[in-house]
Amino acid sequence: MPDFADHAGRYAPSPSGDLHFGNLRTAVLAWLFARQSGRKFYMRVEDIDSERSSMESAQRQLEDLAAIGIEWDEPVVYQHDRGEAYASALAKLDTYECYCSRRDIREAASAPHAQPGMYPGTCRDLTEEQRAYRRSQLSQSGRLPAIRLRAHAERWTVNDVYKGEFTGPVDDVILKRGGNANQAQVGDWAYNLAVVVDDGYQSIDQVVRGDDLLGSAPAQAYLAHELGFPDPEYVHVPLVVTADGRRLAKRDGAVTLRQMAEDGGVQRVVEQIASSLGHPDVSSMGELLDRFDPLGLSREPWVWGISE
Ligand code: GLU
Repeated sequence: MPDFADHAGRYAPSPSGDLHFGNLRTAVLAWLFARQSGRKFYMRVEDIDSERSSMESAQRQLEDLAAIGIEWDEPVVYQHDRGEAYASALAKLDTYECYCSRRDIREAASAPHAQPGMYPGTCRDLTEEQRAYRRSQLSQSGRLPAIRLRAHAERWTVNDVYKGEFTGPVDDVILKRGGNANQAQVGDWAYNLAVVVDDGYQSIDQVVRGDDLLGSAPAQAYLAHELGFPDPEYVHVPLVVTADGRRLAKRDGAVTLRQMAEDGGVQRVVEQIASSLGHPDVSSMGELLDRFDPLGLSREPWVWGISE
């Protein structure tokens, strides 16, 4: 087993295409926070979703991150290698099988007392007999049940450097997705379980990522607590958005490093990232590391093509 340092930050991209300016900016922030605080900095390739991920994309993402001057400590962790660790974490948690289809959940969630966005609890308290029936019904259509966390807290509080104390619902999150009974079960692990198990494994005690994930932090921190991992420090950073307020996406034009570098080279992109972090006069990552002030970072989203 690799020996991960006690204090570390990370960047954990999903390899489903090239990173865009917003992803690169978040990666730079994660690197700055880790290195300024004397932490190790690890990369984790979040490729549990085998249909959307590819090794080729992972390779290109790592190349792009290296090209802008981010350096990281070895080894790089790939989630496709981590099935055993997820299985042993799952065995330690209080869980239950869930037989619901998306449609079942949607319908139950529209009942008058349901809480929007939360699992309505349909399968939480079924009897063994009911479970056997639902399981056999599902297997007739070639499906296996999903596994959910039986959460023993409704809400959980995390501390975030920018957002302060943030309390949110825990929910009975999916830990393992229901699969096709006839196919191998790789790729069915759910994001929330994989992130928490891997952060624990890599000794991550500082999680810097886009603030679109703030809402997942309470459930993840609760899971970490249940698995005996210490609470990381959270730093949810503002995203890069378009002028109409949408999260920047690849369809917004020349937004990947390779596209942007066609016009001015990688150097120009580094300058743009530095500028978006409040340092328009900085032209190298080393200088940015010296000068970046976390408290001076704007708490507003960076607007692509408009913010200066
Ligand atoms: N893999 C996730 C993403 O690319 C990030 C997960 C995390 O940082 O916790 O959005």
